[in-house]
Amino acid sequence: MSWFADSAWLPSGIAHDVRFEVADGRLTEVRAGAEPGDARRLRGLVLPGFANAHSHAFHRALRGRTHGGGGTFWTWRDAMYSIAGRLDPDSYLTLARATYAEMALAGVTSVGEFHYLHHAPGGERYAEENVMAEALRQAAADAGIRLTLLDTCYLTGGLDSTGHKPLVGPQLRFSDGDVGRWAERVERLTPSDGMTVGVAIHSVRAVPRAALGSVSFVAAGRPVHAHVSEQLAENAACQAFYGCTATMLLDDEGVLGPGTTAVHATHLADADIDVLGHSRTTICMCPTTERDLADGIGPARRLAATGCPITLGSDQHAVIDLLEEARSLEMDERLSSGERGRFTPTELLAALTGHAGIGWPDAGRLEAGGLADFVAVRTDTVRTAGADPEQILLSATAADIDTVVVSGEPIVEGGRHRLGDVAAMLSAAIQPLWESA
Ligand SMILES: [Zn+2]
Repeated sequence: MSWFADSAWLPSGIAHDVRFEVADGRLTEVRAGAEPGDARRLRGLVLPGFANAHSHAFHRALRGRTHGGGGTFWTWRDAMYSIAGRLDPDSYLTLARATYAEMALAGVTSVGEFHYLHHAPGGERYAEENVMAEALRQAAADAGIRLTLLDTCYLTGGLDSTGHKPLVGPQLRFSDGDVGRWAERVERLTPSDGMTVGVAIHSVRAVPRAALGSVSFVAAGRPVHAHVSEQLAENAACQAFYGCTATMLLDDEGVLGPGTTAVHATHLADADIDVLGHSRTTICMCPTTERDLADGIGPARRLAATGCPITLGSDQHAVIDLLEEARSLEMDERLSSGERGRFTPTELLAALTGHAGIGWPDAGRLEAGGLADFVAVRTDTVRTAGADPEQILLSATAADIDTVVVSGEPIVEGGRHRLGDVAAMLSAAIQPLWESA
């Protein structure tokens, strides 16, 4: 199979008349200045597939229901818990399939799913213990995107100056009881074509110090993700009980390093930035979530300057538009620093397509040997017409994405997903959850 683009963003920059040869899901040759011949034509500017490095698929049910009434991160969390309490394997599959299809429409070719909804209500194990993970595997396969299942250790209900709190209500569904039982269940999760397995530490609120090293050990080289310092209250509790920051606690327990991703990293001390940078820990920024939840603006430029790769996630899915996440990485820096051009377009593209932190190091670059994932962005819409292609990430939105190809297979063509009407799928998945509330 061959594809042809009038222009494409290659590792060397934007090239013209590019022909892609694909075999067994990989690019075997990428040639600029080529003739189209019999190749299938791609419309607009072709980019590598986007990596959505931080997702909680079921949070999609909260969109448009939690933003208008004020409140805080913690009141938002109560609404999230009420949805978490109602999902079963069938409704989870329906919701995740529609959410992943929406991601595909937005150019996402791989998603890192931070998965903590793994038990039945009350905390019982399902008879088929990983049935909720299997729902996610099926959902991603149906939607046509690659999945990194980050099975999340979640053991306690919170942290204050006196220590870790017991789990309450819907939180019981998130826990295996202890880290040993979590590890046993995770070991029985098997990767498959299109799905890889990693692990996650929910946060220093939900995993006590004694279990942190065990989670890293179980990872055994697979990706490790953790929410880090999204909220000031987490920092205060960590400081009060452990006498150090969340970053330092994770560092003391050997969690940080090139295989680890710290999600958010919003409220950091100078020493935290140094430790994250020197350990080459990846930072996943989630700008649309961080602004919706009034988390704050993390020090992305400083983290990048000390050595942290930066990735992006749509997290709670108040917005699923990875181009918007990339643009916001730069725009938030402008607001907080008073300077423009904090990230170059090439750096924004690297964040948008950074697959290594979710365990797909062969994806995200249009070069021979890489996975044949690409996203064709129209340059003739009302948003993009007249723009310099080099600045497409600062002008285009998810609505401008025409074609999405994963492992050489088109999953979106002409802006339509292969499963059909994704808005109808989302409605059908979400409405019953609120009607049963
Ligand atoms: Zn999250």
